[in-house]
Amino acid sequence: MAYKDYYAILGIPRDATQEEIKRAYRKLALKYHPDRNPGNKEAEEKFKEISEAYEVLSDPEKRAIYDSYGYSGLKSSGYRGFEDISDIFKTFSDIFEDFFDFSFEEKFHTRPRNGADLSYEVVLDFEDLFKDKKITLEIEKFEVCEFCKGLGYDPQKGVKNCDVCNGKGRVTYTEGFFRISYTCPDCKGRGTVYIEKCPKCKGSGKVWNKKELEVVIPAGIEDGSILRIPKEGEPGLFGGKPGDLFIRVKIKPHRYFYREKNNVIGQLKINFVSAILGDKIKIPYFEEELEIKIPPGIQPGEEILIKGKGLPDVKTGKRGDLILKVQIEIPKKLSKEGEKLLKKLAEIEGIKSFDNELLLNSQKNSKKKKERFWEKFIFGNK
Ligand SMILES: [Zn+2]
Ligand SMILES: [Zn+2]
Repeated sequence: MAYKDYYAILGIPRDATQEEIKRAYRKLALKYHPDRNPGNKEAEEKFKEISEAYEVLSDPEKRAIYDSYGYSGLKSSGYRGFEDISDIFKTFSDIFEDFFDFSFEEKFHTRPRNGADLSYEVVLDFEDLFKDKKITLEIEKFEVCEFCKGLGYDPQKGVKNCDVCNGKGRVTYTEGFFRISYTCPDCKGRGTVYIEKCPKCKGSGKVWNKKELEVVIPAGIEDGSILRIPKEGEPGLFGGKPGDLFIRVKIKPHRYFYREKNNVIGQLKINFVSAILGDKIKIPYFEEELEIKIPPGIQPGEEILIKGKGLPDVKTGKRGDLILKVQIEIPKKLSKEGEKLLKKLAEIEGIKSFDNELLLNSQKNSKKKKERFWEKFIFGNK
């Protein structure tokens, strides 16, 4: 078994402090780092050696074993060293970050990028408007890749200088008298390219994720309203802020009712007897049953107002009214007996469809007389 003098490898005295060990390793690691020595086997071996020395001496327990029992003592305690380079990066990933300025900004000139806003559409039924409506949205969005922290490359393999621009981020060429310089298309000006794409996100730095989000749509919301849910958009990268989530609310039209502000409007069809005599009827309404009083003598098109049965105001919760526009149904056919009774009724009540005398007079002369007929039998254009 070959003896390894870790102190000699790092070039430090046997009583070196942790700070001195770290400084020595940093200096050598910078020199033999594979990024700086692509394809150089010797540098790689050296890099492994110094990393092993650093691993042992920076760990007080391992260092004590090594100091007392030497390299063989360390081996028999179970120490195996590093399998390969990626093993080293894995072990010292946090250290390499500050050793080599492996931070995003330095290597990638990456400024914080805010996450994109997301927008969704929710379709509600008219009956959903009477109460707050809880919905579960299944949101598909990108999250920052946890494996590479959004870098896009395999963090264990790291980055290397871009071959195209030699790490400068710009490419220059001469044409005639001109020197033309442009951003390196290979590394997009970063000067570095990754050695291997992140296997988890295929290099994009983001992964596609599904998330369930519970959202409460307030009662009385209007068709086309947009709700903003802060920070539920796509996440920011490199310290950027997450985007917001916008929910556009669409409301399906109801077959029988519609809204005007917070009032609900509908039509009520009643028979001519109820219209004449008045009535009390029950109708099913969204979550309740309403009793409606029809005053005697109600006219077609008149409105019945039922207070407080409209939609809640989205801010105050105060409900609008229900307005029913009255339609009167006239029977198309009556029994012989019914006909007789109705004629009798007309006679008793003096109901005439026409005033013959008035007709005769108005045919004869003035405009005024015609107008008197119209006033009685023809509706105005109001
Ligand atoms: Zn990744
Ligand atoms: Zn480049």
